[in-house]
Amino acid sequence: MNTETQMQFILGLRSKGITDARVLKAMESIPREAFLEGTFQPRAYADTPLPIDCGQTISQPSVVAQMTQALDITPRCKVLEIGTGSGYQAAILAKLTRRVYTVERHRPLARIAAKRLAALDLGNVTVITGDGSLGLPEQSPFDRILLTAASEDPPALLLKQLRVGGIMVLPVGQSDMVQTLIKIVKSDNGLEYTELGEVRFVPLLEGVAEDIA
Ligand code: SAH
Repeated sequence: MNTETQMQFILGLRSKGITDARVLKAMESIPREAFLEGTFQPRAYADTPLPIDCGQTISQPSVVAQMTQALDITPRCKVLEIGTGSGYQAAILAKLTRRVYTVERHRPLARIAAKRLAALDLGNVTVITGDGSLGLPEQSPFDRILLTAASEDPPALLLKQLRVGGIMVLPVGQSDMVQTLIKIVKSDNGLEYTELGEVRFVPLLEGVAEDIA
């Protein structure tokens, strides 16, 4: 992206409450157009969700930034993302920490995302095709867990795979309605919930999708 576009993009994020310098730097360094099909690339830096394959969407940049900021990632964190989609959010996470796992139920999306992440030399992300509502027990516990698809309640299996002291961010609510973005901090005393505002995500569905590859 050119400097002018980049400046406007970052100013826009700042005006929406993104203040964490590391998050802003990560957002500045990842070209969002690389995660879009050609026809949508001209709109890559507008603050809007856009269609991707398999009837899914790439999230709105300010929401990606808001969720990333809420996760409060340190460079030593092991992070799990559920809902790889385009791979854009995973790329931002990969800029902020040493290890990212991301799970997608649509195999074609997982495949393209992995290719895009590799093209950007983000070798610290592993893309897995699977049902993210089950988490990734073999790699758990995680320091941070992010869901980019909405469920009615925080999935119990994912809460179990969150380390004590860890943070989970996810949209909760009925599918096809406005959902609430929540942050959960896990401590020895239990779970502490904070509401972060209204969002709209595609629903978290069970099982791996039967795509015709
Ligand atoms: N984070 C993405 C946007 C995600 S859209 C990005 O940056 O582009 C939500 C994604 O969650 C969709 O691709 C959808 O297929 C996926 N999804 C829904 N339920 C899932 C599940 N149980 N496991 C894994 N992925 C799931």
